[in-house]
Amino acid sequence: MQNIENRRLAIIGAGVSGLSAGWYLRDSDWEVVTFEKSRGLSGRAATRTMNDVRVDHGANYFKINSPILEDLILKELPTEGLFQIHGDVFLFDQQSTIIPGDPNLNKETKWNYKNGISDLGKRLAQCSGSKIIRQTRVISLEECSRCWNLISDDGRSLGVFDAILFTPPAPQILDLISDADVQESSLNELNELLAESEFNSQFSIVMGFKNRIERPNDCCAMLNEDRKHAVSWLGFEDSKSGRVGSDASVIVAQMSPEWTTSHYDSCDDVLFKESIIEVSKIINFPEAGPAWIDKQRWRYAHPRVALDIEEVENCAPEGWFFSGDSFVGRGRVGESMVTGIEAAERILNTF
Ligand SMILES: Cc1cc2nc3c(=O)[nH]c(=O)nc-3n(C[C@H](O)[C@H](O)[C@H](O)COP(=O)(O)OP(=O)(O)OC[C@H]3O[C@@H](n4cnc5c(N)ncnc54)[C@H](O)[C@@H]3O)c2cc1C
Repeated sequence: MQNIENRRLAIIGAGVSGLSAGWYLRDSDWEVVTFEKSRGLSGRAATRTMNDVRVDHGANYFKINSPILEDLILKELPTEGLFQIHGDVFLFDQQSTIIPGDPNLNKETKWNYKNGISDLGKRLAQCSGSKIIRQTRVISLEECSRCWNLISDDGRSLGVFDAILFTPPAPQILDLISDADVQESSLNELNELLAESEFNSQFSIVMGFKNRIERPNDCCAMLNEDRKHAVSWLGFEDSKSGRVGSDASVIVAQMSPEWTTSHYDSCDDVLFKESIIEVSKIINFPEAGPAWIDKQRWRYAHPRVALDIEEVENCAPEGWFFSGDSFVGRGRVGESMVTGIEAAERILNTF
């Protein structure tokens, strides 16, 4: 038996799922180290400053729809700057006809932070006991007497851990473990299960306007209901608590998976020109078009299927745990956080 004080957990990924796990384990006996390949925290719950405006170019908002999320977000994390987005999500179809959205869904509160949705990840990190090491991509791991040595992309050992929590989208986990050096068991079954995961890719095209773009009263976003339009979602950043000057507009157009796939390697000129044409079918633009435009390409944006967490962990080597929206089956910040908390509970119950 190892001394419990020596237990070390590596969390791979500082998205909301991994950070929620780190937060849950803050008062435990585990020494937790989180590795994140990017510079920033919060993963796809992402915010960037574009043309001096804080823009959520990944998730648009989050919902607080379970008691554990209520406790965590409303009581445990700092609430300064947390606000409710006013307005409804409208719907549009292939012909760009706009109608009001589902009243029941629109009753649910849409949350965000004044400084951007990535504040959720930053606040989780602040309140967690985990040491977070950024700009460090884990690319492989090797077993050493019932422990795991993590290897970074520059070939360094990142340390030896008793347990690992994998949080990236399942196709990225599959890449990571494909070269793992596992002594006793084969990873074939685990690889096959993870390979069942499917993700849509998505371009977020961000357009800034010097004037206010007209839309139905009380509309904060629009969703393509029949999934036949080239645009999946239009989010109005100017409906988010003072982020955009009152005379201006910033619109985030999330392009459909089909449009994204067919434009995946297009140059910016083509991307921008063609996305402007598609967005202008839904809302009226000034003829000159946006004053500025930017983009983000998400290779793994939204999962299309949910993997079974029990099945996956049952065929994984001892000490490997999993969380993230691959196990939810749809892209949702809150639900992904819950998978992280549940993984942390399993870790506490297993050891
Ligand atoms: C365009 C877009 C719009 C969305 N809109 C909404 C919305 O409005 N509302 C909503 O609730 N949800 C939305 N979602 C979904 C939501 O953002 C995700 O479900 C949620 O953020 C997933 O969190 P996660 O922690 O599971 O994964 P991620 O956020 O992907 O976190 C995984 C982390 O692992 C890191 N990582 C990956 N590989 C490695 C490695 N080898 N080594 C180290 N680090 C690694 C990544 O950099 C990342 O930070 C949207 C997503 C996208 C892309």
